[in-house]
Amino acid sequence: MASIKIQNINKIYDNNVQAVYDFNMDINDGEFIVLVGPSGCGKSTTLRMIAGLEDISSGQLIIDGEDVTNKPPKDRDIAMVFQNYALYGHMTIYENMAFSMTLRHEDPNVIHEKVLAAAEILGLTEQLNKKPRQLSGGQRQRVAMGRAIVRTPKVFLFDEPLSNLDAKLRSATRREILLLHKRLGATMLYVTHDQTEALTLADRIVCMSMGHVQQIGTPLELYDSPANLFVASFIGLPPMNFFDVTVEENQLVREGMVYELNAEEKALLKDYVGKVITLGVRPENVVQGGTINVSVTGNENLGQTTLVHGNIGKHKVTCKFREWSNYKPGDQVGVSFNRVYFFDKETTNAIR
Ligand code: ADP
Repeated sequence: MASIKIQNINKIYDNNVQAVYDFNMDINDGEFIVLVGPSGCGKSTTLRMIAGLEDISSGQLIIDGEDVTNKPPKDRDIAMVFQNYALYGHMTIYENMAFSMTLRHEDPNVIHEKVLAAAEILGLTEQLNKKPRQLSGGQRQRVAMGRAIVRTPKVFLFDEPLSNLDAKLRSATRREILLLHKRLGATMLYVTHDQTEALTLADRIVCMSMGHVQQIGTPLELYDSPANLFVASFIGLPPMNFFDVTVEENQLVREGMVYELNAEEKALLKDYVGKVITLGVRPENVVQGGTINVSVTGNENLGQTTLVHGNIGKHKVTCKFREWSNYKPGDQVGVSFNRVYFFDKETTNAIR
């Protein structure tokens, strides 16, 4: 079990690519942290620096009060689970899980106990004598986790561990990882580009873009109060709609749209009167009934909800209605927004 202090960490690769800028975070003992962002934003680099697989260019990494910035991986007491869970094909599941301990010449009785305990936690007891090829993708992923668990590390690191699994298995394995986290109470850091994994797994999410941390917070904080345009567009599915609007005293205006401001919103935007800001509206916050006209281009029924695509003026919009609807292209629907977000156009920061 361990707390982690990440202080002003930067990573500049040999080719002068700066992959991570000034990363700062205090991770509590037992927390489940998910690093999320698009491909290339610096998530894996950050994880690999924590594991000790990449040098830290500048800054400090402290695990459980101990400065490990320059320590090799083996002295950091960390276990990492990768997406390509390279198991040894010629070894049994038991041998695969025991492998790292066998290498270190641990007492065979201790090894035996640890493998059985990990297999029990992961529901692999019946599979221990099988070879990896006899297991399903999900079971193999669990063996990869088993190899980490037997080491009883201070910290678990996961690098996109579910990306090789199909959608159904991904969701089942997600729940298993959550149960595992509860059961072990260990500090876990998990990297993914998938916002659903981030929202469902994390105690706190770190959302990154182009090497910079954009926001750190609980899933609800990132969904409900995104710090800037990037987080707002990345978290939420389908993504938030954005409109450039001119702020007037009592309303926001653009071609085809007038949005009346309430007292609270007026106060928030008092310094922006006469200026253009970005208005954000999540699809689920567009509701049927109202004075804003959507000209429908498409209707997708998803069962519980319907995605209606269309235009407000010339601007594309996606609406997620709770009701089953059967709009046809060309239909006109009056809508209103029951929750909106404002962003400064220059800084892209949320106005809140
Ligand atoms: P992510 O995990 O978010 O997809 P990475 O941490 O893998 O992103 O990469 C961040 C940036 O660093 C990218 O621009 C990538 O091309 C670059 N990068 C990653 N590994 C290396 C490396 N070994 N040498 C040089 N540049 C690298």
